[in-house]
Amino acid sequence: MKKTRNLFILRGKEDLVLSVLDELLFKGLSVFKEKQISTEIVKEVFRNNKSVACRDVAEESLKETAIFITVTEHNFSCANSIQTSAGNIAEQFACIATKHHCDIGDHKANSSGLGEAPKRSDCPYCRYMDDGYCDRDIGLHRTLYRSKNFFVMPTIGEFIKGYLLIIPKQHVMSNAELPLEVRQEFLTVLEDVCYMLQLTYCTSNVLVWENGSGNGGIGKAKNSIVHSHTHVAPSRLDADSIETFSHFPFERISYEDLHLYGKNSYLLIRGENDEDWRINDNPNLYIPRQYVRQLLLYKDYTFLPDEIWDWRHHPFVDKIKETCEEIQAALLKHWDDVPQRIQQNTKEFLFKM
Ligand SMILES: [Zn+2]
Repeated sequence: MKKTRNLFILRGKEDLVLSVLDELLFKGLSVFKEKQISTEIVKEVFRNNKSVACRDVAEESLKETAIFITVTEHNFSCANSIQTSAGNIAEQFACIATKHHCDIGDHKANSSGLGEAPKRSDCPYCRYMDDGYCDRDIGLHRTLYRSKNFFVMPTIGEFIKGYLLIIPKQHVMSNAELPLEVRQEFLTVLEDVCYMLQLTYCTSNVLVWENGSGNGGIGKAKNSIVHSHTHVAPSRLDADSIETFSHFPFERISYEDLHLYGKNSYLLIRGENDEDWRINDNPNLYIPRQYVRQLLLYKDYTFLPDEIWDWRHHPFVDKIKETCEEIQAALLKHWDDVPQRIQQNTKEFLFKM
């Protein structure tokens, strides 16, 4: 997993360094143009999980782990150098960050494409529903369950079998936008999903999380799916270890109060049970792309190659099919014992594969 909270110190002629700093508009990077910044400033940025780019820091010990970059006008063969005459300054900086395995986020010019709330007509989940719950791209009916306001299907990027999404039928940007009675229905659907995973994979260890897109989806990366979806993945990873590992401060809330968090983007994780939800909606916090997916892979599946978490490049269509087949086989095998509500909400999909 790439590192956040890095310190980049740029050296060279003052006007050149300042012109380079102007170009470094990355989501996970804070830029300082003062001659020297204090340790407190660096710590504050690190608290928000971001990296620092600056000219110098006051404390010598911080420099021990810093990445030094030399800024020159013309070609200069140094390990970490940016040549201003070559153009593409942000790209040169991103290359250095990649080389050092640092995550500085997308460049703001590339990522903040959504200037208005994304329309239903551009939404892949709404299109999927309009197509009769058939995924045109992979030619597959992958829905397993449908209730009044939600449907459930394996995710694209199914690197863990049994990894499901709970998606509201309504085109909302987060579950915080749903009315209370629909959120109460969500908890019932979640209970049913956990039952199906227990039945199929004999596991009650599931991680549940949602990346809510606040503010009507505005400001999200151009190619994000902003239609609300909650992830449910069999995993030994839990909310406590995510808190410890990420150093993100989470607030404890009840699902009933989720509507108070519709304004900003958030990361919501279920803790021990349905009474225990943990949220961080701090707009200054840098949350890397597909962050919890990255953590799952990092913690549980270290034998798999890095970058497998990226569903756009690794859809795992075979595992989507296997998950559907295995859950449906388990339901059929135990059909007489399956609660009536689950029978009701799954039977229309059981013979559609
Ligand atoms: Zn939609």
